[in-house]
Amino acid sequence: MAVMTSTIPEKDPNEKRDLEAGVREWGERIFSLTDAAEGPSLFSRKGFYGTLIEWAMGDEHFKTQLFRFVDVLPTLASSAEISRHLKEYLGDDQVKLSPALRLGLKAAGGMSWLFGSGIKAQVTGMARQFMLGNDDKEIVTTLRKLNDNDTAFTVDILGETVVSETEADQYAGRYLELMDLIARQIGKWPRPCKSNESPRGLLPPLNLSVKISALYSQVHPADPETAIERASERLRPILRRAQALGAFINFDMESYALKDLTLRLFKKIFAEPVFASSPSCGLALQAYLKDCETDLTGVIAWARERNRRLTVRLVKGAYWDYETVMAQQRHWPVPVFARKAETDANFERLSSILLENDSAVDSAFGTHNVRSIAYVLAEAERLGVACRNFEFQMLYGMAEPIKDAVLQLGCRLREYCPVGELLPGMAYLVRRLLENTSNEGFLANKFAKGSSREDLLRNPSDLVAADERRLASSEETVAPANVGRYEGTAGFQNEPHTDFTLANEREKLRNAIRDLRVKFGQRFPLIINNKPISTHDWHPSLNPAHQQEVVGYAAQATIAEADSALGAARMAQEKWGGKPAEERAAVLEKVAGLMRRDKAALCALEVLEAGKNWSEADADVAEAIDFCNFYAAEMRLLGKPHRTQAVAGESNFQHWWPRGTGVIVAPWNFPLAILAGMASAAVVAGNSVILKPSDQTPVIAARLMELFIEAGSPPGVVNLLTGPGGVVGAHLVAHPQIDFIAFTGSKEVGLKIWEAAARTAAGQANLKKVVCEMGGKNCIIVDSDADMDEAVVGCIASAFGYQGQKCSALSRLVVLADNYDKFLERLIAAAASLRVGPAEEPGTIGPVITRDAQQRILAMIETGKREARLAWQGTAPNTPDACYVPPTIFAEVPPASRLFRQEIFGPVLAVTKARDFDEALALANDSEFALTAGCYSRSPVNIERAKAEMVCGNLYINRTCTGAAVERHPFGGFKMSGGGTKAGGREYLQNFLVPRVVTENCLRRGFAPAEE
Ligand SMILES: Cc1cc2nc3c(=O)[nH]c(=O)nc-3n(C[C@H](O)[C@H](O)[C@H](O)COP(=O)(O)OP(=O)(O)OC[C@H]3O[C@@H](n4cnc5c(N)ncnc54)[C@H](O)[C@@H]3O)c2cc1C
Repeated sequence: MAVMTSTIPEKDPNEKRDLEAGVREWGERIFSLTDAAEGPSLFSRKGFYGTLIEWAMGDEHFKTQLFRFVDVLPTLASSAEISRHLKEYLGDDQVKLSPALRLGLKAAGGMSWLFGSGIKAQVTGMARQFMLGNDDKEIVTTLRKLNDNDTAFTVDILGETVVSETEADQYAGRYLELMDLIARQIGKWPRPCKSNESPRGLLPPLNLSVKISALYSQVHPADPETAIERASERLRPILRRAQALGAFINFDMESYALKDLTLRLFKKIFAEPVFASSPSCGLALQAYLKDCETDLTGVIAWARERNRRLTVRLVKGAYWDYETVMAQQRHWPVPVFARKAETDANFERLSSILLENDSAVDSAFGTHNVRSIAYVLAEAERLGVACRNFEFQMLYGMAEPIKDAVLQLGCRLREYCPVGELLPGMAYLVRRLLENTSNEGFLANKFAKGSSREDLLRNPSDLVAADERRLASSEETVAPANVGRYEGTAGFQNEPHTDFTLANEREKLRNAIRDLRVKFGQRFPLIINNKPISTHDWHPSLNPAHQQEVVGYAAQATIAEADSALGAARMAQEKWGGKPAEERAAVLEKVAGLMRRDKAALCALEVLEAGKNWSEADADVAEAIDFCNFYAAEMRLLGKPHRTQAVAGESNFQHWWPRGTGVIVAPWNFPLAILAGMASAAVVAGNSVILKPSDQTPVIAARLMELFIEAGSPPGVVNLLTGPGGVVGAHLVAHPQIDFIAFTGSKEVGLKIWEAAARTAAGQANLKKVVCEMGGKNCIIVDSDADMDEAVVGCIASAFGYQGQKCSALSRLVVLADNYDKFLERLIAAAASLRVGPAEEPGTIGPVITRDAQQRILAMIETGKREARLAWQGTAPNTPDACYVPPTIFAEVPPASRLFRQEIFGPVLAVTKARDFDEALALANDSEFALTAGCYSRSPVNIERAKAEMVCGNLYINRTCTGAAVERHPFGGFKMSGGGTKAGGREYLQNFLVPRVVTENCLRRGFAPAEE
């Protein structure tokens, strides 16, 4: 079906000029009307929050501190807590006010003005400006007032992201109640709202905006199907009620990650026969997205094909900062335009497309920008589309004079009215405050900064063109704002994780899993001198989700093969160590490139051999690539001798030699990343190695070995020795010809290695270096002012991601007493929303690694039941050949218990209550381990204390305590967690090298050469 697409690019110059003249004319008319009216109350500079907003716009640091304080305020229960936080955010020590601000504050009565103003009530007042509250009477009174003022409305329920299915049910239930409540009242109103009168007929007076993220709590990028199914289950009753009440349902658009899912859900549910012609429906599209035009034409084509009229609400988009920052953090393409003028120009282009397709879709333009509004009116005029065919939409509490002007021009206007509690509404309030005070925003420029009409009505396409001309003639490039400058190791950038919201990426992995199954059961020999060596014994590697499936058979080495591997490695080392660092680095980069080539196949292997879910598997492969690239880049730096001190007459240079030959003893939980990381560091440093992978993941190790050979690693430099760790591993560790051991694994084995390596045999050439990384009993503190939504989601991911089988996993959760009951309730509800199942089904909590591990963890759970209160236990599929352990949460766990102290390495979380932050810190530090830790808090002072006092190698504030990225989060602990080394950090390579310093006296007979 044909979609009319904008003719703007082809418009002839006359037409363009006429359109631009029209825009100016409409703009001037709107400005005449707005300038005659009083400015929006937010910018009145009167009263408490008028003053605060003015200050915020004058001082970026004050703005950040103020908005952070506003964000935490609703969670603060007592006036003591409020005043503590106020001081921590806005006290004299925290904000260095600009001179003008200092004067202003002094005139207002100093800090005591803030303290004494009943600040919670004031902020509640500020919030009320943008949202309707939760009181039924208040809601209907406000809506009635809008109706009387000829302004239509759409109602949204605050509280966007739900963390559990219980909350999603509550959210959906609240919609039904709200629809009934408003419908009852509308029936009593004396006359319909004029803004609902369209030339095509009367529009539904009851209009609701729904957020998809609130209808399903477990959206997983790799599994949109389940999200669509579950959200549909909650949507259907809402749509049926909408049919019965004659209501309109709009889908709001949220973050980019949910965009395709929202579009798919929309098209799917409104294609169901029962909803194919009613209720009336629509959705929002965001012009700041580079791919918005494709989506818009897709939606229009869909509407035409089905002959289904729908409304498109065109907005610019509310999550610009978030999209920009997240894409940068993930090294994904930034989906939004980098410049405001590009968004504005796109909004105009898309407005034209909408108006050109007026015969198929209704248009709603969601903007407060006079230029954007004027463009719509001028373009409609040009195309002959009556202005009452479409509507303008604006947010409740914003841009009052512009709303009045639009109504006076005879246009239809709808206000977006959020209802609900202040607490869940905070994200919305902060978004509005940011939008209103943004330097780039239209409202601040018009009403606070007094920009000229000329500037405000400037054609955004001209601005973009002028900017491009300027850039073309300078060295600058367009960098999205907020881009942190990259200051890491030259030449290194983290491998982006796969974006599983993309259908082709999901397809690739699904195909790879299918292809791998066909190859199940192959034999994987040892590799010595790059040659396969078969043995008598073959150990099956089983799929933890289906124990009858043999992923592959690994050759079992004996002492004889271990010695032969050692001989090969020693033979190869000298030549390899003598090669230039550049050459060795190049081999590692080739390995990284090959892993990238085979990413889907490697992920599939991780899913089926290690039971990692899709995202975890993908992250492990990406990390392996990172290790290779990072250590290659680092070795290039270390490969150049560096002067220790410049002194006349003497040259002093430090450089590094390889240690020799080592053994790499790796675990199964990061089967590729840790093995590749330890091996690549040692190898690039010029050593030769024997890989001794875990018995549980030998096939992944064999694939890595193949990649080393394919990348050109010479015979003997890397050797693969699968087999019983207690025999061949122990033999090599104790061997006098082994120079170093890199180990990651359990404390039990780690300590044995540490001890064995310390013993020197007669004739042993070197003291053995041991890189030893062991487990943790990691703790997160949840402070009484923590953002609960984030803390619940972060703790669930930290505790149950990869079934709790990460050494960084959360296993002790210390919650402050004020929050304890409420937090635990939400945590349990969130945990109960998880799905346990085979890892190949994306979005699931999978099996643990082996039957033995399963039995050990289940036994620990039984012990736990005697030590603490079993607060919740999930269910696992009844699949006898799978190694599932139901996720389990214990509460009120005593610090002396085994549950609190012992590493479990499974999906078991121990929760303990702390009286105050001091006790929380003491509990967190009460452990023999020191690996990772975390703290969720919005108290700047407590955050600083956590940073200074929590005993761990990696501390994470207000985020998960797992998921370290190479270079960004060098990883490793101390105490019984390890020897203090940092994998993925700058100094890591030095563990595999010995430093040498060469000093030369350059003074001969009193003659010193010129400084080199
Ligand atoms: C009724 C209504 C419903 C809405 N529903 C949604 C919704 O479902 N989903 C949603 O995301 N938003 C929604 N919004 C919010 C809307 O996206 C913002 O209010 C809107 O972007 C502000 O645009 P403006 O034209 O009023 O202001 P302007 O000041 O002209 O534009 C501000 C916008 O420009 C964009 N921008 C700012 N800086 C840059 C930059 N450097 N580069 C590129 N672009 C930049 C951003 O989108 C920013 O919001 C809705 C708004 C209204 C009025």
